[in-house]
Amino acid sequence: MKKIKMTTPLVEMDGDEMTRILWKMIKDELLYPFVDLNTEYYDLGLVEREKTRDQVTFDSAYATQKYGVAVKCATITPNKQRVEEYNLTEMWKSPNGTIRAILDGTVFRAPILIDSIKPAVRNWTKPITIARHAYGDIYKATEHRVEGPGKAELVFTGADGSEFRETIYDFECGGVLQGQYNKDSSIESFAHSCFQYAIDTKQDLWFATKDTISKKYDQTFKLTFQDIFDKEYKAKFDELGITYFYTLIDDAVARVIRSEGGYIWACKNYDGDVMSDMVSTAFGSLAMMTSVLVSPDGKYEYEAAHGTVTRHYYRYLKGEDTSTNPMATIFAWSGALRKRGELDGLSDLVSFADKLEEACIDTLNDGIMTKDLVGLVVDKSSVKAVNSIDFIRAIRERLEAKLS
Ligand code: NAP
Ligand code: MG
Repeated sequence: MKKIKMTTPLVEMDGDEMTRILWKMIKDELLYPFVDLNTEYYDLGLVEREKTRDQVTFDSAYATQKYGVAVKCATITPNKQRVEEYNLTEMWKSPNGTIRAILDGTVFRAPILIDSIKPAVRNWTKPITIARHAYGDIYKATEHRVEGPGKAELVFTGADGSEFRETIYDFECGGVLQGQYNKDSSIESFAHSCFQYAIDTKQDLWFATKDTISKKYDQTFKLTFQDIFDKEYKAKFDELGITYFYTLIDDAVARVIRSEGGYIWACKNYDGDVMSDMVSTAFGSLAMMTSVLVSPDGKYEYEAAHGTVTRHYYRYLKGEDTSTNPMATIFAWSGALRKRGELDGLSDLVSFADKLEEACIDTLNDGIMTKDLVGLVVDKSSVKAVNSIDFIRAIRERLEAKLS
């Protein structure tokens, strides 16, 4: 069989632990045999990050800016214990945080659905994609614990020396205070990424805040989205037959629960933090959650939403059989290859990505799955738990049949 050609390199970011093991299996079994894989390789494994003093992470993000599409393996975010374990000279920052800051992107998370696993919300028959604005608000707030009576004021001193001052509260007793901010530029980037991704995936976009209560702060989010939509995206949305819908956050929550899914739900930072955990749990398994970082100027970085699955890795190192689910990591590859194919006009590559995903779904529908999923299936009589490599080989068989 002739291998499928690629023209532009795909930025490949390797990672750590069990997902690094899966990464190699996926490439060996599902990619190399079929695609003349053209990647620019960056090793974001912790050993290499230490060796390059984290330069490799920055370089991989710059390469993503240059080429436009990346695929990333899960990586360790070092904490104190990891500093000892890996003998690190510094507690290197989260690679995801570094890449997100450079690309100025928004993360979109969507579950992979299969027939045998029913979401906790019965009527959710299509995936719900959550877009979280990962900048500012309470995550960058300044807080103060008030210990006794006194006046709290909101003061802003302009660069020109002008002053805004308003009393927040005249405390007659102890209490708490918090100062939050966000930036127009960040809100605008968030809006662009959301509209762009809605067009890309041909899904409706929902956005919600509490603008009835927060008449300046949340109102700014609402107006920014509406303004950018009207000026730059409305025509394209009309052409595709998709809609942009704004509502209050409490109304949105009620509508989401009653919906059948199939749209993107854009959330402010805190709402996105909370709602993405709720939505992903309701859909089933973290191992079936995909994630893509989209920058406002249309650069894409695909990955799995889960981590490096440390516990499985230590069992693997001891030579024990592991049944780690590679689905989200495979879909990161298929997502990235499809996007590369679309951008470069390579229909073979796009079709390969589709078939790879179909082969994965077919394998699961045939009852062959990793242990984590078996636990979620209602009718267990017709399913079989296999280890990671056997699962990947079962996908390969089905992929080969589709490609021949
Ligand atoms: P995790 O790697 O997502 O794993 C948590 C647990 O979820 C696992 O122990 C496993 O449960 C289950 N699980 C997750 N993915 C699975 C899969 N593909 N197949 C089967 N089971 C799966 O989260 P963590 O243990 O909190 O973090 C481990 C490391 O990953 C940390 O160093 C963290 O910094 C890093 N991390 C990286 C990213 C990223 O790069 N995007 C994201 C999150 C965490 P059982 O053990 O019960 O089977
Ligand atoms: Mg959270």
